[in-house]
Amino acid sequence: NLSDKLDKALHILKGHGQITEVNVAETLKEVRRALIDADVNYKIAKEFTARVKEKALGQNVLKSLKPGQLMVKLVKDELTELMGGEVVGINVSGNPSVVLMSGLQGSGKTTFSGKLANFLKNKKTKKPLLVACDVYRPAAIDQLHIVGDQIGVEVFSDKGNTDPVAIATAGVAHAKANGCNVVIIDTAGRLAVDEVMMNEIANIHKAITPQETLFVVDSMTGQDAVNTAKAFNDILNFDGVILTKLDGDTRGGAAISIKSVVNKPIKFIGTGEKMEEIDVFYPSRMADRILGMGDVVSLVERAQEQFDEEEARKLQKKIAKNQFGFDDFLKQIQQVKKMGNMKDLIRMIPGAGKMMKDVDIDDDAFKHIEAIIHSMTLAERSKPQIINSSRKKRIGKGSGTSVQQVNQLLKQFDQMSKMMKMMQGGGGKRMMQMMGK
Ligand code: GDP
Ligand code: MG
Repeated sequence: NLSDKLDKALHILKGHGQITEVNVAETLKEVRRALIDADVNYKIAKEFTARVKEKALGQNVLKSLKPGQLMVKLVKDELTELMGGEVVGINVSGNPSVVLMSGLQGSGKTTFSGKLANFLKNKKTKKPLLVACDVYRPAAIDQLHIVGDQIGVEVFSDKGNTDPVAIATAGVAHAKANGCNVVIIDTAGRLAVDEVMMNEIANIHKAITPQETLFVVDSMTGQDAVNTAKAFNDILNFDGVILTKLDGDTRGGAAISIKSVVNKPIKFIGTGEKMEEIDVFYPSRMADRILGMGDVVSLVERAQEQFDEEEARKLQKKIAKNQFGFDDFLKQIQQVKKMGNMKDLIRMIPGAGKMMKDVDIDDDAFKHIEAIIHSMTLAERSKPQIINSSRKKRIGKGSGTSVQQVNQLLKQFDQMSKMMKMMQGGGGKRMMQMMGK
């Protein structure tokens, strides 16, 4: 997927202390290829890399202190810019405000109508009404009623009435009469752009003059998403885009292309079938997601501020000589804690965000560990193997933990020491160097 490919492309730079012009060009070529593979329009991808290159030259990347990081940052910033830069919210300030959904069949209009109603309802100041204007399938009306029941929002429908314009108008009147301040109009889509659908949505649009006309698009449809967006925008001049089905392994390419082609902001994303699975669209977060790298730059920057170079070198030597003890471990924990919230930190590590998503990391998790180490004598800290069962009992008592907890820490420490020794030749060393630099 795009993330992996960009990751690979940028890896060339991340690992390098020195960057050559060839290196930059090569990386940008890879970035361009990755974007195209992810359904980003060829022209957009090409312009994108050209702009990054220009900025890289302008900022004299090659001569900068941390060229790799600067390049990664340039790519990320440009990607963010390409997707609109700023967060653009939804305008529901009217009374009532009318929100019209448009898009192909199956794009997720009905689901998103429910999600948006739920989202607004939770804001307390909004009382939404859902209006069912998909008159072609009786099941479509039922579907919206099911959604409405689920979230506790009223649904206006008129089974048997085949005129969506009339239903929409009646829906707005119903909202006014019943104190609903947001009307969300769910409409019918078709499998592909056709004249009948376009005429119908244009007529509804004309009749109710919505405050927000939203175009809902399935992010899995790739380049087609862009063409559809263009067709709808030509007719409706919509206000914003909703990108659905961005859960799972979906490529983010559509987000990039659509914004560039229709120049309308992406306002929300759908990340699942459940009513709660809606998110405001943040261009910079999407860029992070596309790059799949977390906020590498700030992680490295923060790490560099906190890790003393000399300390890191000493530590490395100790590990190499098998002298890494609990005192060193304690120091490490304190260093890590200084860097801030554990969850934030782990999220910033490339790839770790995905891996650690379901793991609950407690900032207090270190408390027990620190207490146990503090209860050890200096001899015990540097030579853990002398800790026998009577010592364990004493340590447990002193730290307010159990012998089991002490045992567990000893075991973990032993495994960790072995692992660190093993990693000496490979990634571990690189990581230490990165931290120490
Ligand atoms: P409509 O024809 O435009 O009204 O589309 P629906 O709202 O009926 O959605 C079509 C299908 O896509 C349904 O099975 C939804 O559950 C599913 N769906 C909608 N939004 C999302 C989403 O964000 N993620 C996932 N995974 N499925 C979605
Ligand atoms: Mg529908």
